[in-house]
Amino acid sequence: MAKIYLNPERCIGCRSCEVACEREHGHPRISVGTVSDLAAVPLYCHQCDAAPCAAVCCTGSLRQDGDMVKFNPDLCTLCGLCLVACPFGAIELDSMVQRCDMCGNGTPVCVTTCPAEALVLGDVDVVTRSTRARAAAVLAARLR
Ligand code: SF4
Ligand code: SF4
Repeated sequence: MAKIYLNPERCIGCRSCEVACEREHGHPRISVGTVSDLAAVPLYCHQCDAAPCAAVCCTGSLRQDGDMVKFNPDLCTLCGLCLVACPFGAIELDSMVQRCDMCGNGTPVCVTTCPAEALVLGDVDVVTRSTRARAAAVLAARLR
Protein backbone atom coordinates (compact mmCIF):
# COMPACT_ATOMS: atom_id res chain seq x y z
CA MET A 1 0.00 0.00 0.00
CA ALA A 2 1.18 3.50 -0.73
CA LYS A 3 1.91 5.45 2.44
CA ILE A 4 2.67 9.07 3.26
CA TYR A 5 6.34 9.97 3.58
CA LEU A 6 7.91 13.24 4.66
CA ASN A 7 10.96 14.90 3.18
CA PRO A 8 11.81 17.20 6.12
CA GLU A 9 14.27 19.18 4.03
CA ARG A 10 11.40 20.41 1.85
CA CYS A 11 8.90 21.35 4.59
CA ILE A 12 8.50 25.14 4.89
CA GLY A 13 6.17 24.99 7.90
CA CYS A 14 3.27 26.64 6.09
CA ARG A 15 0.64 24.39 7.77
CA SER A 16 -1.31 24.03 4.53
CA CYS A 17 -1.52 20.28 5.27
CA GLU A 18 -3.10 20.96 8.66
CA VAL A 19 -5.64 23.38 7.21
CA ALA A 20 -6.55 21.05 4.34
CA CYS A 21 -7.00 18.15 6.77
CA GLU A 22 -9.21 20.22 9.07
CA ARG A 23 -11.36 21.30 6.13
CA GLU A 24 -11.71 17.67 5.03
CA HIS A 25 -12.43 16.11 8.43
CA GLY A 26 -13.54 18.97 10.69
CA HIS A 27 -10.47 18.38 12.88
CA PRO A 28 -6.82 18.20 11.76
CA ARG A 29 -5.30 14.73 11.86
CA ILE A 30 -1.84 16.08 11.03
CA SER A 31 -0.10 18.73 13.11
CA VAL A 32 3.00 20.72 12.28
CA GLY A 33 5.36 21.15 15.22
CA THR A 34 8.58 23.13 15.33
CA VAL A 35 11.95 22.11 16.70
CA SER A 36 13.71 24.94 18.56
CA ASP A 37 11.83 27.45 16.34
CA LEU A 38 14.03 26.30 13.47
CA ALA A 39 12.62 23.28 11.70
CA ALA A 40 9.00 22.37 10.99
CA VAL A 41 8.03 18.76 11.58
CA PRO A 42 4.63 17.54 10.49
CA LEU A 43 3.34 14.79 12.83
CA TYR A 44 1.05 12.35 11.10
CA CYS A 45 0.00 8.70 11.00
CA HIS A 46 2.54 6.36 9.41
CA GLN A 47 0.01 3.54 8.98
CA CYS A 48 2.26 1.21 11.02
CA ASP A 49 2.47 -2.44 9.96
CA ALA A 50 2.02 -3.66 13.55
CA ALA A 51 0.20 -0.62 14.85
CA PRO A 52 0.55 0.08 18.59
CA CYS A 53 -2.78 1.96 18.53
CA ALA A 54 -4.61 -1.17 17.37
CA ALA A 55 -2.62 -3.41 19.73
CA VAL A 56 -3.77 -1.52 22.84
CA CYS A 57 -7.37 -0.98 21.75
CA CYS A 58 -9.33 -3.45 23.91
CA THR A 59 -12.70 -2.91 22.24
CA GLY A 60 -11.55 -3.60 18.68
CA SER A 61 -12.48 -0.07 17.65
CA LEU A 62 -9.00 0.29 16.12
CA ARG A 63 -8.18 -2.88 14.24
CA GLN A 64 -5.24 -3.88 12.06
CA ASP A 65 -6.56 -4.83 8.64
CA GLY A 66 -3.67 -5.82 6.39
CA ASP A 67 -1.44 -2.77 6.02
CA MET A 68 -4.12 -0.35 7.23
CA VAL A 69 -5.64 0.31 10.64
CA LYS A 70 -9.42 0.57 10.47
CA PHE A 71 -11.47 2.57 12.98
CA ASN A 72 -15.00 1.74 14.09
CA PRO A 73 -16.35 4.72 16.06
CA ASP A 74 -19.29 2.68 17.36
CA LEU A 75 -16.94 0.55 19.50
CA CYS A 76 -14.81 3.43 20.82
CA THR A 77 -15.10 4.23 24.55
CA LEU A 78 -12.73 7.23 24.34
CA CYS A 79 -10.38 5.58 26.89
CA GLY A 80 -7.36 7.31 25.29
CA LEU A 81 -5.01 4.30 25.33
CA CYS A 82 -4.35 4.65 21.57
CA LEU A 83 -3.32 8.25 22.16
CA VAL A 84 -0.65 7.13 24.61
CA ALA A 85 0.47 4.18 22.48
CA CYS A 86 1.04 6.03 19.19
CA PRO A 87 4.79 6.75 18.87
CA PHE A 88 4.17 9.56 16.37
CA GLY A 89 1.62 11.63 18.31
CA ALA A 90 -0.76 11.04 15.41
CA ILE A 91 -3.99 10.57 17.36
CA GLU A 92 -6.09 13.26 18.96
CA LEU A 93 -9.21 13.02 21.03
CA ASP A 94 -12.01 15.52 20.98
CA SER A 95 -15.49 14.08 20.99
CA MET A 96 -14.06 11.22 18.92
CA VAL A 97 -10.70 9.62 18.08
CA GLN A 98 -9.14 11.65 15.27
CA ARG A 99 -6.84 9.45 13.25
CA CYS A 100 -5.75 9.45 9.62
CA ASP A 101 -7.79 7.23 7.29
CA MET A 102 -5.93 8.32 4.13
CA CYS A 103 -9.03 10.43 3.42
CA GLY A 104 -10.92 7.19 2.80
CA ASN A 105 -9.88 7.01 -0.83
CA GLY A 106 -6.08 6.69 -0.72
CA THR A 107 -5.57 10.29 -1.90
CA PRO A 108 -4.84 12.29 1.26
CA VAL A 109 -5.53 16.02 0.97
CA CYS A 110 -2.40 16.86 2.99
CA VAL A 111 -0.29 15.37 0.19
CA THR A 112 -2.21 16.98 -2.67
CA THR A 113 -2.19 20.37 -0.88
CA CYS A 114 1.46 20.56 0.21
CA PRO A 115 2.99 23.32 -1.97
CA ALA A 116 6.55 22.20 -1.23
CA GLU A 117 5.99 18.53 -2.09
CA ALA A 118 7.34 17.71 1.36
CA LEU A 119 4.62 15.10 1.83
CA VAL A 120 4.73 12.34 -0.74
CA LEU A 121 2.45 9.38 -1.29
CA GLY A 122 4.07 6.22 -2.57
CA ASP A 123 5.66 2.87 -2.08
CA VAL A 124 8.59 2.92 0.37
CA ASP A 125 11.11 1.56 -2.17
CA VAL A 126 10.23 4.24 -4.72
CA VAL A 127 9.87 7.16 -2.31
CA THR A 128 13.15 6.52 -0.51
CA ARG A 129 15.19 5.78 -3.65
CA SER A 130 16.73 9.26 -3.82
CA THR A 131 17.47 9.24 -0.07
CA ARG A 132 19.24 5.91 -0.38
CA ALA A 133 21.14 7.09 -3.45
CA ARG A 134 22.32 10.16 -1.51
CA ALA A 135 23.45 7.99 1.43
CA ALA A 136 25.28 5.65 -0.97
CA ALA A 137 27.08 8.63 -2.56
CA VAL A 138 28.20 9.87 0.89
CA LEU A 139 29.46 6.40 1.77
CA ALA A 140 31.24 6.03 -1.57
CA ALA A 141 32.97 9.42 -1.05
CA ARG A 142 34.20 8.29 2.37
CA LEU A 143 35.61 5.07 0.99
CA ARG A 144 37.57 6.82 -1.75
S1 SF4 B 1 -2.12 6.18 14.74
FE1 SF4 B 1 0.03 6.02 15.43
S2 SF4 B 1 0.28 3.87 16.13
FE2 SF4 B 1 -1.63 3.96 14.91
S3 SF4 B 1 -0.98 3.39 12.84
FE3 SF4 B 1 -0.87 5.64 12.95
S4 SF4 B 1 1.25 6.12 13.55
FE4 SF4 B 1 0.91 3.93 13.97
S1 SF4 C 1 1.95 21.66 3.63
FE1 SF4 C 1 3.95 20.72 3.19
S2 SF4 C 1 5.40 22.43 3.43
FE2 SF4 C 1 3.50 23.07 4.42
S3 SF4 C 1 3.76 22.46 6.60
FE3 SF4 C 1 2.70 20.76 5.56
S4 SF4 C 1 4.35 19.37 4.97
FE4 SF4 C 1 5.32 21.35 5.42
